[in-house]
Formats: sequence, C-alpha cells, structure tokens
Amino acid sequence: MPIPGLIDPVPVPREVTPRADGRVDLIGLSRKQITAVLEQAGLDAKAAKLRAKQVFHWLYHRGVTDFEAMTDIAKTMRPWLAARFVIGRPDVVEAQVSNDGTRKWLLRTADNHDFEMVFIPDATRGTLCVSSQVGCTLNCRFCHTGTMRLVRNLTPGEIVGQVMLARDVLGEWPRGSMASLGSDDSLDFDDGDEDEGADYTPDGRLLTNIVMMGMGEPLYNFDHVRDALKVVMDGDGLALSKRRITLSTSGVVPMMARAGEEIGVNLAVSLHAVTKEVRDEIVPINRKYGIEELLQACADYPGASNARRITFEYVMLKDKNDRDSDAHELVRLIKQYGLPAKVNLIPFNPWPGAPYECSTPERIKRFAGIVFDAGISAPVRTPRGRDIDAACGQLKTAAERKSRAELDRLLEEKQAALG
Ligand code: SAH
Ligand code: SF4
Repeated sequence: MPIPGLIDPVPVPREVTPRADGRVDLIGLSRKQITAVLEQAGLDAKAAKLRAKQVFHWLYHRGVTDFEAMTDIAKTMRPWLAARFVIGRPDVVEAQVSNDGTRKWLLRTADNHDFEMVFIPDATRGTLCVSSQVGCTLNCRFCHTGTMRLVRNLTPGEIVGQVMLARDVLGEWPRGSMASLGSDDSLDFDDGDEDEGADYTPDGRLLTNIVMMGMGEPLYNFDHVRDALKVVMDGDGLALSKRRITLSTSGVVPMMARAGEEIGVNLAVSLHAVTKEVRDEIVPINRKYGIEELLQACADYPGASNARRITFEYVMLKDKNDRDSDAHELVRLIKQYGLPAKVNLIPFNPWPGAPYECSTPERIKRFAGIVFDAGISAPVRTPRGRDIDAACGQLKTAAERKSRAELDRLLEEKQAALG
C-alpha cells in the first residue's frame, strides 16, 4: 500500500484567506479576469474592457502599485478603483545577498505563509527562481524543501507577484511618465502608441529568465502555474518569452503533455537516477510514474526539438548515482527515446541532516565526460548562493529552520533538566 503523502499526494490545498478589507488584489489576473471584476464592480461591458486594457498595461508593463499613477485614467475614477482593488506584492520578511551576487528573499503571503525566491545573475543573463507552492508534498530525499510539509499552493497572484517584486527590487520598470499624454476623462481610450512619450525609455533588463525551480512541484499546482505564466508571457505586460522560461518537474507524467500544450515553456525534468531502485529511493514519485513512462512523456512533449531541448537535471550524490555505469545508462536511455536533451549535472548542495554527500569533483568530471563524449551537452552547474542557503534544494523557510532550532534548544534544556 502506498504511504499517503509520500508518492502521489494530490495536495488538498488550503483555501486562501480572503483579504480582511474585502478588496480584490489585481496582481495575477489576466486582462479578461480584470474585465470581469470591473464589470462585477459596476462598469458596463465596454467601459470594463477599455479600463481593463489600461489597467493591465499599468500593472504589468509599468509596474505601478498605486492607482493614482495611472495618468490616462480619469482622475475621478482612480479613487473608485482604489476603494475596490489593490495592487499587491508578497511581503518581504528578509532579503539576503550572497558574496557571489545571488539574492534570496523570504516572502510572506497575505495569510502569513512563508516561501522563498532566488535571483541568480551571471555574465549573460539573470535568472529568477520562482516558487509554486509553500513547501512540497513530494519527499525527494536530497531536497531540503521536501522535508517541509505542504502548506498550500501559491495563487497566480503570488506566483506573478514574485516576478513583480523582483522587477521592483532590481529597478527594472520602464522609466519615464505618461503624464504628457494627459488624462482620459472620456471613455475613448486610444490604445495606440502611449509608449512613445519622449521621456519613456525602456531600459536593459537584469531579469531575463525565469525557472520554476523554487519551492514546490509546479505540476501539482498546474492551473495556477499556467495562469501565472500566461500573464508573465503576455506581450502587453511583463512580456517574457516562453523560450526564457523553464518549468522543472520531478516527473508528474500525466500533466506533462498539458504543460507543453497549455503553457509551452521549456521543460526540465529532475531525473537524478537511471535505475528503478535508486530513483525509487531518491525521487519517490518514481514509484508511481517510472523512468520509462517519464522518458516516453518527454519524447511526446509538445515543442521539444533540437533547438528547444529538454533539460535533464541530475544531482551528483556520492556512491549513489555517480558511477560510470550510471553515466553510460543515462546516455543509452536518452538515445533509446530519441530525446533532444541536455544534461545539467548539479553538485549536491548539503543541508543539515541530509542523508547524502556530494560526489567528488573528479567523479563529476568523469561522469560529465562520458555523457559529453556521447554527443550530449553536460555542463556541471556551479552552485550559487550557498553561503545564504539559496542553492538548489536548500530552500526551506527561515521560519521553519528557526522553529527547528528552537525545538532543538527546548529538547536540550529538557535533557539538561533531566540531568
Ligand atoms: N519540484 C521541482 C522543481 C523544484 S526543485 C523538481 O523537483 O523538479 C529544483 C531542482 O533542484 C530539482 O532538479 C531538484 O531535484 C534540485 N535539487 C533539490 N535538492 C537539491 C540539493 N540538495 N542539491 C542540488 N540540487 C537539488
Ligand atoms: Fe519537491 Fe522538487 Fe524538492 Fe522533490 S526536488 S521534494 S519535487 S521541490
């Protein structure tokens, strides 16, 4: 009998607590959904549609958080909007910067759940590592997040909110104002070239890529992740190309085809082992969806091609999955399924109490060499942000870490009292 909560624990998400003031947070809503909430608030269909288009642009393209800044919306209408809606961001509990430039934020939802986000700049790109859930129901044995229990799925607003916040912090919203365009007191909004104001200068961006590799299993929160990424990809808003977004899954096979069809971003698969025995142990979802099924789903993934390869993530665990024979089997499997693939070798990032060690650098080099010699790209990922516990698999909220530390202290006190 499967152990509940271990292999395929379809999460029963806790409901999001509504805001106490009854206002609706617009972040995460699509243009269509903004139209609908404006109609519900009393605008007629035509007005709602026009206003939604304006508001969408202000929210996601300009990054404003105050309705008063929406200068092409009638002055009298702005307080009306502010009374009914908010433009939210996750609360920042803590922000840390690593000595290698990696940044980590501990964020908090409006109903007080903590989750993490990481930004990794390098020479050619800046990658934001976004969370999809608070905690994770899967218990991959090498992953610190996997030791947390799932609290709840993040909403589209909380997922998009991470990108918004990163842009705020990095100062990446287009500068300049639209004041010169004047305010629109009629409803004939001209949706033409409002961006052509003389002082409007979209600048170079630091945040160029997004990976759904923070806390959680994105394919267990499919609808919210899809809706959020659609907003992130919308050309009138944040406008990140699907080619610059990667979704990483531990192997939720039944959702992979839909991910390709309905989201269409790059796919990364946390493979980590090539035998049933080892993968069952380290990625327990393997007991439900085995390696063959997973690789077949990869072969069927819509949009995969030599130009858009599937990334296989492979964490290097000493004496567990790092033998020459594992590397040869990895190559054989990729070829057997005809996969346009690249392999990311991730040195294991240790955390207190982890049951594994990282493979030696020589072993990793040798493993990479075998895969590379077979014609498959196999870069070894340099761990980033280790000093602030921001590296892959180290995400576990400080709040939880603290409560564990407190528990340990209490335990020690108790033991001392017992003599
Ligand atoms: N749940 C998804 C995405 C989040 S995990 C998934 O599992 O794919 C993002 C990546 O970090 C995964 O490949 C995961 O296996 C890897 N990872 C987790 N813990 C790690 C650790 N301690 N060291 C190195 N990589 C780790
Ligand atoms: Fe969850 Fe991914 Fe960590 Fe596994 S590796 S426990 S799926 S976050």
